[in-house]
Amino acid sequence: MPDRTVDKVVIIGGGPGGYESALVASQLGAEVTVVDTDGLGGSAVITDCVPSKTLIATSELMTEVAGAAELGVNFHDVEGDAATTLSVDLARVNTRVKALAAEQSVDIGRRLDRENVTVVRGRGRLDGPERVVVTAPDGSEQTLEAGAVLIATGASPRTLPSAQPDGERILTWEQVYDLTEVPSELIVVGSGVTGAEFASAYLALGIPVTLVSSRDRVLPGEDADASAVLEEVSKRRGMKVLSRSRMESVTRDGDVVTVTLTDGRSVQGSHCILALGSVPNTTDLGLEDAGVRLKDGGFVGVDRVSRTTARGVYAAGDCTGVLMLASVAAMQGRIAMYHFLGDAVAPLDLKKVASNVFTAPEIATVGWSQQAVDNGEITAEVVMLPLSGNPRAKMQGVRDGFVKLFCRPGTGIVVGGVVVGPRASELIHPVSLAVAESITADQLAATFTVYPSMSGSIAEAARRLHRV
Ligand SMILES: Cc1cc2nc3c(=O)[nH]c(=O)nc-3n(C[C@H](O)[C@H](O)[C@H](O)COP(=O)(O)OP(=O)(O)OC[C@H]3O[C@@H](n4cnc5c(N)ncnc54)[C@H](O)[C@@H]3O)c2cc1C
Repeated sequence: MPDRTVDKVVIIGGGPGGYESALVASQLGAEVTVVDTDGLGGSAVITDCVPSKTLIATSELMTEVAGAAELGVNFHDVEGDAATTLSVDLARVNTRVKALAAEQSVDIGRRLDRENVTVVRGRGRLDGPERVVVTAPDGSEQTLEAGAVLIATGASPRTLPSAQPDGERILTWEQVYDLTEVPSELIVVGSGVTGAEFASAYLALGIPVTLVSSRDRVLPGEDADASAVLEEVSKRRGMKVLSRSRMESVTRDGDVVTVTLTDGRSVQGSHCILALGSVPNTTDLGLEDAGVRLKDGGFVGVDRVSRTTARGVYAAGDCTGVLMLASVAAMQGRIAMYHFLGDAVAPLDLKKVASNVFTAPEIATVGWSQQAVDNGEITAEVVMLPLSGNPRAKMQGVRDGFVKLFCRPGTGIVVGGVVVGPRASELIHPVSLAVAESITADQLAATFTVYPSMSGSIAEAARRLHRV
């Protein structure tokens, strides 16, 4: 029988869904074990968010430098001749990316150690709802008893039989950091967030990019005005965007990669990144035998406090498919721990989640969307203000982007917003705060902003929502 004197928690998966929950559970006095196979931090730290945003830090710099002449900055070589080309050392960039990810993973390990969380290296699976069997890399097994188990095993890149990565020229997003030479022609298949981010990043690094999109527009899940700005800017900077073009297969012949489309057309390049979405890591985990019901696509079904259908088994993060973001994974995991350990708990509220697409320009959103307003799911007043009129934007040579705010007609409470522009990920915060705390557009407008600042546009948009 499990020892009930101390709450024992076993977490399978060491990504943000797992390690953030471990910290909370330990803080609340539980005895916590994290079982992880691939390294603490999970895909978020080792292959997904951290590496991609580190790569994007280099592309942002390239974008800024490319715009330097307009601000009066010229580059010269030692003889004083004007520099005409800007190039990236991809091997160095990738070395930096991998080192930073590895350091972050080590930092997380140290933090867990300080908080008395036990980390067990190996693959975990349920043996009933209160027992986890761990297979270590050397094949040995150990069984851990638990009052609660949290499944936080994440997801993996989706591939197709007709589009198999080879790790050299046909790549998943996990494999791009092994590139040592700059692709001469890159094809990105998939125009969701991951595809759009990589296409935008590599374009900024000076690589010719073709984006293959099966939909009418890039980022079909985002605000339509925002994706129109991104598409316009990307095309202006030289990206080829093939809309309504569904990939049938990706093949390689020597140094040439061919993407064949379902309508018979084909595109050739030197490398291809597959960004076809993710599949949950939920096979061979003993889930269904333990009473955990899976949803379509193999995702773990959870309620808003992260409970599965098996008593004592919780799930968080990408394996639930609720909203594939590191921040949401972490919140789902924390909520599970608060719930199990009897702390105050507020169920997950997706309408308060701020998210960002790290393209150039960035697209940040929170709360209700334009689509929900247009569909009549919520009645809201909308104002959209281009950034081109903002004084700081003019000084910085920023012409693309906008601020959009949604507020309820009667109360004026801000219920959502979209920011498109450089560092939109930082600019969205006041809007998130307004949405989370039910602040009105008038209150947002009455809050001082620095002059001149991009955030001045948020206050100005709020002012335009004022009704007498
Ligand atoms: C390219 C890319 C960029 C992204 N950028 C961002 C971003 O900027 N911001 C953001 O919020 N989100 C971003 N995301 C999404 C984010 O990476 C995920 O939402 C996040 O990683 C989910 O965390 P998780 O804990 O559910 O899973 P993961 O981070 O995938 O961690 C799961 C861990 O569990 C381990 N595991 C799996 N099975 C077992 C088992 N049986 N036993 C033991 N361990 C196991 C895995 O090895 C892994 O280490 C990005 C995703 C991609 C693909």
